[in-house]
Amino acid sequence: MTLSQQIANQKSSFFKGINRPLSTRMKHLSTLRELVQDNESLFYEALQKDLGKPEFEVYTTEIITVLNEIDVHLKNVKQWAKVRATGNSYFTFPSKSKIYSQPLGVVLIIGAWNYPIHLTLMPLIGAISAGNTIALKPSELAPNTSSLLAKLFRYYFEPDFISVHEGGADTSTKLLKEPFDKIFFTGSTHVGKIVMKAAAEHLTPVTLELGGKSPAIIHKDADITVSSNRIWWGKTLNAGQTCVAPDFVAIHESKKAEFIEESKKTLLNFFNNDYIIGSNYTQIVNTSHYERLTHLLQTGKIIAGGNTDPDTRFIEPTLMEAEWDDFIMQEEIFGPLLPLITFSKPEEVMQKLQDMPSPLALYLFTEDEQFQKDIITHVPFGGGCVNETVSYLANHHLPFGGVGKSGMGSYHGKYSFDTFSREQSILYKSYWPDPDLRYPPYDDKIITWFKRLFS
Ligand code: NAD
Repeated sequence: MTLSQQIANQKSSFFKGINRPLSTRMKHLSTLRELVQDNESLFYEALQKDLGKPEFEVYTTEIITVLNEIDVHLKNVKQWAKVRATGNSYFTFPSKSKIYSQPLGVVLIIGAWNYPIHLTLMPLIGAISAGNTIALKPSELAPNTSSLLAKLFRYYFEPDFISVHEGGADTSTKLLKEPFDKIFFTGSTHVGKIVMKAAAEHLTPVTLELGGKSPAIIHKDADITVSSNRIWWGKTLNAGQTCVAPDFVAIHESKKAEFIEESKKTLLNFFNNDYIIGSNYTQIVNTSHYERLTHLLQTGKIIAGGNTDPDTRFIEPTLMEAEWDDFIMQEEIFGPLLPLITFSKPEEVMQKLQDMPSPLALYLFTEDEQFQKDIITHVPFGGGCVNETVSYLANHHLPFGGVGKSGMGSYHGKYSFDTFSREQSILYKSYWPDPDLRYPPYDDKIITWFKRLFS
């Protein structure tokens, strides 16, 4: 079967409404839950091969997150999908108005490699609960997870409901030629632009979950021990290959020396100088990313860390001296290197952040409420935390997404349901009464009367 036939079959299955009833959507969500739970050990194995990811991290950032999201949807989908009666206006009296949440049709989900289960299944959950049929494209850079997902989906689901398309840019390019009803893309800003251009051909709406340089800002009042723990936790998770990892630290100059000392202590407490890929630390995904990162290491002054090993693609968490204009500050790092920049005045850091492309996340370490308010109000970024990193995305009540170069649209919880639905407005009228005031021929007396009533 050709790709076009496959997508056409999924469209026809969508129009037949087979997967549309709420009971069927819930059955599919439960099947997805089984798929993940029954094969948990296979996922650990696949991610061990793809990234040397420790089981602890796979469980906490991929498995449990996905299972929790499924439960949130199972519990709420009936409520979210309810037809909502809404008010009327003078102009439509007498009538009733209702809003329907309609599925979009056949949706394409393209995933990234760094959390290959999470980033493929989290949007899928929203697409299922909203009643769509789905084409999934996992990332080729996590090949074992990609082929496991393809095998499991073939076993647990009908291909007319969920089809899985393995491969890299060539597979995406072919998929992007198809007339999907929605494209949900997770990946780089560069490929996000390619996706959006392709989507424009069919006027397909897109959600783009992209990356960026997410800052951690430490103000002069911050608790440096806690800040260091939370920043290094967010940075060492998945060896910094996390879209919402703190990319760099901007610190008040009075706290720099203390942060350097605390960073050394934090890393010693976390790893005791004993990094074991697959057990307490993750490797860099492939040689080209390893070389990109070791090159970045050579462009600046290392404060702490800096060890590497090409055989295991290991890069030690590394604190680096930096200035705003340095090479390492030009692109998203996506690895365990943490540049440290100082500032003396809040206005200075605000101005620099406003001049940079809007990041996906921002983390602020301070209890100074005015500074918190100033940053949150005047610096555009997708979302973030105060006195914490990363974990805001684990709250399904919060929409997760970027702004500007870090993306558009959002998901998680109800926001995922909405992302894969459209709101349809219907006005209901009965045949009686049928006043003829608005019908031609137009009457001057009536317009005078209208003007008195509405002006
Ligand atoms: P990527 O853009 O290289 O790849 C993402 C997907 O796009 C993959 O499935 C890949 O096969 C496909 N692709 C690659 N080239 C393509 C092309 N020319 N045309 C069409 N499709 C193509 O990104 P990546 O390396 O997988 O992920 C890293 C980036 O993703 C980082 O920037 C990171 O910040 C971002 N990211 C964002 C989120 C988020 O939720 N916002 C999550 C994870 C990663």
